[in-house]
Amino acid sequence: METSGKGGYLQPAVEADSCINCGICLKVCPVYGDVELHYPLTAFAARSRDSSDYITSSSGGIASVLSSYMIEQGGVVYGCHADGLDIRHVRIEDKEELWKLKGSKYVQSNVSDVFRKVRADLSAGLDVLFTGTPCQTAGLRKYVGKLSDRLYLVDLICHGVPSQKMFREHVRHVIGNEDVDAVSFRDGPRFVLSLSSSGKVVYRSDFCRNPFEDMYYRAFFYGISYRDSCYKCRFARPERVSDITIGDFWGIKNPGTLPFGTEAGLSVALPVTEKGLALLDAIRDSLFIEERPVEEAVAGNDQLRHPFRFTRRVSLFRAFYGILPFDAAARLAFMDKQLMRWLSGMKHKILRKDAK
Ligand SMILES: Cc1cc2nc3c(=O)[nH]c(=O)nc-3n(C[C@H](O)[C@H](O)[C@H](O)COP(=O)(O)OP(=O)(O)OC[C@H]3O[C@@H](n4cnc5c(N)ncnc54)[C@H](O)[C@@H]3O)c2cc1C
Repeated sequence: METSGKGGYLQPAVEADSCINCGICLKVCPVYGDVELHYPLTAFAARSRDSSDYITSSSGGIASVLSSYMIEQGGVVYGCHADGLDIRHVRIEDKEELWKLKGSKYVQSNVSDVFRKVRADLSAGLDVLFTGTPCQTAGLRKYVGKLSDRLYLVDLICHGVPSQKMFREHVRHVIGNEDVDAVSFRDGPRFVLSLSSSGKVVYRSDFCRNPFEDMYYRAFFYGISYRDSCYKCRFARPERVSDITIGDFWGIKNPGTLPFGTEAGLSVALPVTEKGLALLDAIRDSLFIEERPVEEAVAGNDQLRHPFRFTRRVSLFRAFYGILPFDAAARLAFMDKQLMRWLSGMKHKILRKDAK
């Protein structure tokens, strides 16, 4: 892996010295090679029955229920951990360590040597659960080839990923050189970025309360800071590449009629293969769960239908980011929106004054 260009995204790279032009890298590449996609067998709305697990997860906590189960069965789990500002996939074999994977990190995760470790685990006869973005799971399935019988792939419904470089620049912009030992991007269903240093929260911004305060979140949410491949993502569609797809059950109809509370978020789980369905069946007792139509999940979640569009605002952001730091470039790219917001605030103030 190497970082590329001003954007700093991680990209696979060919080591020219050892390349023998065999073409295998293109065959296993999730972007260029063939991929098998399947329409989900059904859909579930679900959340963890364990309330502390539930409230510390981004959606309904289904990822950690799956991970706990895999370790209880003697398997190992791979997922994304934020070690300070270092966002990367790690291997977990002890349930006590599963906290590391909790929560969405809205940053490109570094998978570095993880695919090799997964292959070694599979060769040693272990069951492996890997959770990641669909492009990561697609790449891993191709990489392990025939060994995939014991591999359980779970992908996230994915907007797209900004780079770690952008995230680091933003963190330095908002808190200076202070050490960061924990980052969190969600507070249940709310999009809250918080940074902690020595166990104390040193920065907190709630995107739902003020969408112009934190420019990293704004750029992520409105899709201007992603990798090129995200705008052409072949996995942002109803047909899926993994055994199970999970995400937020946005757009669920009549959530109040569900026989369980959803105040801290709700997961959607889409089993795609029989193996995925059997795995969900095995964790059923640890979940509040209700079957729903796949179409309902697809209708409520744009990224189950198409990738984020590459708009003029993306080009604008990229042009600014070529010469300015991240926060300045993102703020300028949204200047028109900010101006409109300011003007509408002024208008309301004047109208209120006139009415008095
Ligand atoms: C970049 C990104 C974009 C997303 N976009 C959408 C979306 O558009 N619509 C939607 O419904 N859901 C989206 N999600 C998924 C959603 O935010 C939750 O992660 C998902 O619902 C799982 O929540 P949970 O409560 O089950 O588990 P959590 O406890 O939140 O567990 C998170 C799981 O996700 C994995 N993970 C976390 N960050 C990353 C990362 N950067 N790269 C790879 N794997 C990671 C961890 O390994 C862990 O297993 C996105 C997630 C990410 C990381």
